[in-house]
Amino acid sequence: MKTHLKVLAFIYMVSVVILLALEFSQFKKVDKLRAEIGESHRLISGQDEGVRLELDYRRFRDRLYSYVRMSGHETASGGNRTSHDDVLVAFDIFWSRVFQINSATVGLEDEQVRNLEPILNGLKRTMRQIEPYVQNLEPGDLDKQAIISKRLDPYGAILNNAAAKISHLKRLRAVELQDRLETVLMSMDNLLTTSALGAGLLLSLFGAEAYRARREERKTRTREARVRFLAEHDPLTGLANRAFLNQKMCQYMRDADEDGQGFHLLLLDLDKFKNVNDTYGHPMGDRLLKKAAARLLRIFASTDDIVARLGGDEFAILTKSSTKQAAALSLKVIDALSAVFTFGDLEVRISTSIGISSFPSLSGSSDDLMRDADLALYAAKNNGRATYRFYERDMGVAIQHRMQLEADLRRAMLHEDGGLEVYYQPQVNLAEQSSHAIEHHEWQITGAEALVRWFHPERGHIPPMEFIEIAEEAGIIDDLSDWIIRQACDDAVQWHQAGHRINLSVNLSPLQLNNPNLPNEILSHLDQCGFDPNYLTLEITESADVQDTKAAARMLSTLADRGISLAMDDFGTGYSNLGYLNSLPLNILKIDRSFISGIEQGGENCKLVLGVINLAHGMGLKVVAEGIETEEQLAFLRDQNCTIGQGYLFGRPVNKLKMFSRLRHQRLSEPRAQIRCIA
Ligand code: GH3
Ligand code: MG
Repeated sequence: MKTHLKVLAFIYMVSVVILLALEFSQFKKVDKLRAEIGESHRLISGQDEGVRLELDYRRFRDRLYSYVRMSGHETASGGNRTSHDDVLVAFDIFWSRVFQINSATVGLEDEQVRNLEPILNGLKRTMRQIEPYVQNLEPGDLDKQAIISKRLDPYGAILNNAAAKISHLKRLRAVELQDRLETVLMSMDNLLTTSALGAGLLLSLFGAEAYRARREERKTRTREARVRFLAEHDPLTGLANRAFLNQKMCQYMRDADEDGQGFHLLLLDLDKFKNVNDTYGHPMGDRLLKKAAARLLRIFASTDDIVARLGGDEFAILTKSSTKQAAALSLKVIDALSAVFTFGDLEVRISTSIGISSFPSLSGSSDDLMRDADLALYAAKNNGRATYRFYERDMGVAIQHRMQLEADLRRAMLHEDGGLEVYYQPQVNLAEQSSHAIEHHEWQITGAEALVRWFHPERGHIPPMEFIEIAEEAGIIDDLSDWIIRQACDDAVQWHQAGHRINLSVNLSPLQLNNPNLPNEILSHLDQCGFDPNYLTLEITESADVQDTKAAARMLSTLADRGISLAMDDFGTGYSNLGYLNSLPLNILKIDRSFISGIEQGGENCKLVLGVINLAHGMGLKVVAEGIETEEQLAFLRDQNCTIGQGYLFGRPVNKLKMFSRLRHQRLSEPRAQIRCIA
């Protein structure tokens, strides 16, 4: 109980005790009064004491006279005549009345009977004096009667007065008592009323306080329940959280020790979820997470399995099923999360990868379970996503290697000694090359493709395919591409400032097209370094990784509006259809090097290249041929009006200094129209 409540309860108790004491004293008073009421009744009913004295006096006198006045004959005949016994009885009664009456018998205080007492005393003396005369009285004995009368007569009037006075005093006393009674009863009433009110007030105060305290307590309990709920649940989806999952995992492990039943931990991570956030915004991402959670709950609704959200786009399922069942469940989960999510008119697709660890067969503690499921998840991601993998013992080594590379790559982007470098492969305008240049391989470089290289400080050269994939998997491809664009533009600005106004081509990862901020990021960097957007070409590849192709087309149009050219890289290796090509603001098609090799001998590649060149021209696009290695290939492509060539024939990729040096050795280029204008 709270302190103030205790204090209030104490005050309440003390008040009740005081009231009870007051009540008790009042009841005692009332008790006394009840006695006084009795007394007042007695007083009123006993107001005739004096009258009786007077009556007894008169009765005695009456008997006395009637006896003395009788003749002897009357006495003998008996009948209803007064006998001497009658006289004696009346005298005795009168005697006892006189001797009995006093302030106590009449119920008066001493002072009230102050005047009465001497009279009564005198009367008593007189009674003693007349007693012998009364005893010896005989009918006709007028002398004795005279003596008795002479002694008693003075008391006649006095007794009359005394009787009246006693009655009056008694009545006054009774009235006074009744008045007092009235007053006390009234104060009793008041006390009862006020104590009832006080008690009521205290009770209601106590009641109000008790009610308030109860409500406080209920609130606290609700808050506690909420805190407990929040402590164990994820606020976004309402699923169990990591803490609750850990708790359950420990319990499942104890159960397994007792009953031998193992269990599996399924660790889920949504695939490319960042794209959803980037494309549709974070709130939409949240809505998708909620819907995904609801789908998971539906799958496991009728089981005791635990479904939890660990944070971000990571979920976990704890299931006491067999390995076979765990695999089947994983497939069910992947299917459920791969089904389209609809938000009004909007349809979003996502998938999930799952890593599974097993207790006790492979993983021996909750930490192991988590780590092993994580490694298996990593393997599932590297296995193409939308799939599941069980943890295997040697998984750790391979994944650790990959994770180390990932960390090194992040570091390399921040530090110059990390080994990341941009290389540039020359591009030449085929139509512009003179016969002399072709003959002496003195190519007039009109552009360069920026190609990133990584010379790992310890592991040596790591092929771009490998680390770009790592960057894509690790979600740092945006950062890497941004790093490349910045480096390349900075380098190209130096060449331009030296008068070599060549075109610069930079590759974009398809994943970057899911980033709605891409145009801002590129344009703001161009502004910062002062590179003319008209000399920049962005190369994209055909890919299913683009979430929202319409949004991507809008972004590319924004960039095109600022003068940036757009090339479709590796054309022919993907699955682009003409509709898709038409939807993008393309300027260039780049024919993949795999089609160039062997074109000089005719055959399929030759037909395909011809077809692409015709298609590009038909669509008003320029063509860049990659991988030109021989003069024959060059001759063929020049014959087909291929716009630009790139390949070992013109130069291997070189670092910025070598590129600069090559540019310096060719004649200074005329300020030339940028690549898109050269048909
Ligand atoms: P991967 O296939 O490799 O898993 O790629 P991914 O894009 O899903 O990347 P990853 O799982 O590493 O990142 C998850 C992203 O989820 C990171 C963050 O931007 C986003 N995210 C984290 N918490 C929340 C959240 O509460 N709401 C939303 N909408 N997004 C979140
Ligand atoms: Mg993810």
